[in-house]
Parts: sequence; structure tokens; C-alpha cells
Amino acid sequence: MEEDMEENGKDINPVNLGPSEKTSVRPSDFEFLKVIGKGSFGKVLLARHRKESKVYAVKVLQKQAIMKRNEVKHIMSERNVLLKNVKHPFLVGLHYSFQTKDKLYFVLDYVNGGELFFHLQRERYFPEQRAKFYAAEMASAIGYLHSLNIIYRDLKPENILLDSKGHVVLTDFGLCKEGIEGMGTTSTFCGTPEYLAPEVLRKQPYDKTVDWWCLGAVLYEMMYGLPPFYSRDTAEMYDNILYKPLRLRTNVSGAARSILEGLLQKEKENRLGAKRDFLEIQGHDFFIDLNWEELDKRKIQPPYNPNVSGQLDLKHFDPEFVREPVPASIGKYGSCKMVSASVVEADGVFEGFSYVPPAEDAFS
Ligand code: AMP
Repeated sequence: MEEDMEENGKDINPVNLGPSEKTSVRPSDFEFLKVIGKGSFGKVLLARHRKESKVYAVKVLQKQAIMKRNEVKHIMSERNVLLKNVKHPFLVGLHYSFQTKDKLYFVLDYVNGGELFFHLQRERYFPEQRAKFYAAEMASAIGYLHSLNIIYRDLKPENILLDSKGHVVLTDFGLCKEGIEGMGTTSTFCGTPEYLAPEVLRKQPYDKTVDWWCLGAVLYEMMYGLPPFYSRDTAEMYDNILYKPLRLRTNVSGAARSILEGLLQKEKENRLGAKRDFLEIQGHDFFIDLNWEELDKRKIQPPYNPNVSGQLDLKHFDPEFVREPVPASIGKYGSCKMVSASVVEADGVFEGFSYVPPAEDAFS
């Protein structure tokens, strides 16, 4: 069996995973049961910890897929989400992380109420109160990340899950997506739409307000059934995002239209949230009947119950992924070189993801 560690037991490609790293954990501690999702850089697997007998979602990332060896030098610790203690009721919980020679493993809460948009597709659109509840939980999580100086940047349908009770859980906030635009974005890999803010499309600098645009896009899609500025022709859609004025049908309330207009302002300086960030969103009339303290305590009854029977219930997952066998390389000590060339080409993708002391220059 190929070993992941050098003979002296030292990992030759160490990545600083921050305080969450447990060096004693190995892939063989888990039984990998199913592939439950594919993300930008790797797979998410349903796994059972053999000793604890607990079920987790384990996100497995190829080290090679998210970095180009020599660019690790540019990684700056301040931007490393993994080194911050990120914990919030509507953000997926990270139990711990570990690594092998060529993979990073993140042991996460298994969230099994399904993707929010899986439910939206079935129902076409949500009533305003339901859309408001989800938007508020998302806004609360984004506001929290902003308070830690973290920009989520690509809030998108597949990163918004529901837990077994029907509360929102955002995943994938630990990775900084800078540097991947040039090679086709995350969405190109998975064929899923993304909510691109005008400044992101223009490759201009972005700030926290990019997340408020994305929140506006999610809210719009929940209420109207399609993303704002939608066109089947992607180029036309990008053009619409950049230049087409927002038109809102009057079948939603005035407060809803007003917050959508505020969030979907093309000029980020004019966007709702540009001045006082989350406070401006919280204070908007759309949320006038919402108790934010109760919300954060998870005391507001979710408007929909996913009705999952147990922790292992996979009923809300995309059958396309669920059928897929677990790759043989995962859970063994073998090395897997299944990295697509285009992914490896992504300059600086690793930036902001994990801190490696510059002196060590671990990847060169
Ligand atoms: P991500 O790489 O975080 O975008 O995840 C890819 C897909 O895996 C998501 O769209 C979800 O369907 C699924 N997924 C991610 N994290 C979890 C989790 N903690 N629990 C259940 N499913 C997840």
C-alpha cells in the first residue's frame, strides 16, 4: 500500500489547517458511504466515523487542485478563514480537519434537509414570508462573517442547504475564490448558475457589498422563480447584469421590491449595506416584522420542515451524485492524481485559504 507520509512519518506537503487540525486522524478512521456533492475543488462525502459511530459530511480537496506549488508564498495569514474561529448558527460547523500527502479533509456537520434550490425548483417560487425567513438567516450569517472581515463572495444556490429542521446552513465559506475567474468560474465546473455581481463580472475590486448583491439575487430568485437578469444565453445575461435596469413585477410587496432594488444596485457604492453593512439590511422595512434575536437563537419556527427521517436520510440529495461510487483513492493511503489540467492552471487559487509560514515555503 502506498503511504501518504514519508518514511519518517512527516507529511512532505504540509498545509497549516489552523486550530481545527487533528494530526492523529486518518482517512481510515472513516467509512466513506456516499458521494453527496461535488464542489469547486473536490467532493463531499457522507462518512461514518468508525469508533464514534457518528455520521459526518467530509469534504475532500486535492491539494494540487487548489494550489500551484510556487504560489503558496503569497498566502497571507490575515485572510485565512481557517485560522479564525468561525462559528454561527447558520454556517456549517467544522468539527476538525486533517490531511494526507495530497488531500485535505474537512469533517463537517452532515446537513441533510437538501439544497434550498432543490426545494425551490419543486415549488417554483416561495411565498414572501418563507423567502424572508431564509433571506434573514442568510443575512445573519453573512453579517457575522463580515464582522470577522470575511467576504463570502460567492453565495450561490448549491451552497445554501437546509438542516433537518428547515434552518439555513451555508457551506463553503472557508475558501477564498480569488484567482479562479480567469479559468472559468466554479459554476462552469458544476454547471450551476452563480450570482455574479457587476463588479465581479468586470473583474473590478470588490468588497463586502458583493455579498449583499448575492443576497439580493437569492431573494429575487426565491420570490420570482428565476435569477435576476436571467437569460438562457449566458453572454446576454452578463450584459443584462451590467446594463439592464432591474424591473420588478408588482406581485410582491412594496417592501420586498424596495429591498431588492437596494441590494441589486449595480453600483456597489449605492447598494444597501454600503454604509453600515448588515445593520442596513436588518433595519430595512422588509424585515420590520422579524425578530433578529429570536432568529439567531434558532427560535423562529422554519416555514417548511424537510421531514427527514434520520441522520442518514438522503432523500433530499441529487440522485446523480448519490449514485456515484466513492473514489477508491479516498479512505485509503493511495495517491490520486485525478486533477484536471484546467484546475491546476488556476493561479493563486490557494490564496487566502490556508496559511503556510513564508520561511518554510512548504510547496516549492
Ligand atoms: P461545496 O463544495 O461546499 O459547494 O459542496 C458541494 C455540495 O455538497 C453542496 O452543493 C451540497 O449539496 C453538498 N454539501 C456540502 N457540504 C455539505 C454538508 N455539510 N452536508 C451535506 N451536504 C453538503
